[in-house]
Amino acid sequence: AESQEEKFRRQHVDSGNKGNPGKKYCDQMMAKRGMTKGKCKPVNTFVHESYQKIQDICHEASTPCANPNMHNCHKSAHPLRITQCRLKGGSKPGKCRYLVKNANKHVTVTVACGGKPLKPIHLDPPK
Ligand code: ADP
Repeated sequence: AESQEEKFRRQHVDSGNKGNPGKKYCDQMMAKRGMTKGKCKPVNTFVHESYQKIQDICHEASTPCANPNMHNCHKSAHPLRITQCRLKGGSKPGKCRYLVKNANKHVTVTVACGGKPLKPIHLDPPK
């Protein structure tokens, strides 16, 4: 079975993509990374940095999580490159269509961490 760490990497890490992603980036990546089967995942963020750099955030400053019941979030000290995908209306599972937002934007990233050693297990969607 897939671990939480593997799921995080599958859903959020796209280290290779350093250029400005095109209009089809989200449609292709959301499908390729298995987020369009059964249902279309409504929002998802990809981070264009090395996994090491993202994992290191777990050892940076604690910050409130979007979910106020959780207390395992950490904020990157430096902005990281991200691209957000937001589901368009009229999408159907297997044919999910996404809007590419904030393509390759530099923002502060908040991740939730778990395990020992700490690894990222969730990404709080940047605003
Ligand atoms: P993501 O939220 O990263 O887009 P998922 O919703 O598929 O991806 O899975 C996130 C997982 O992380 C869930 O199993 C959730 O219970 C867990 N989790 C751990 N800490 C948090 C947190 N602070 N906020 C939200 N989810 C968290």
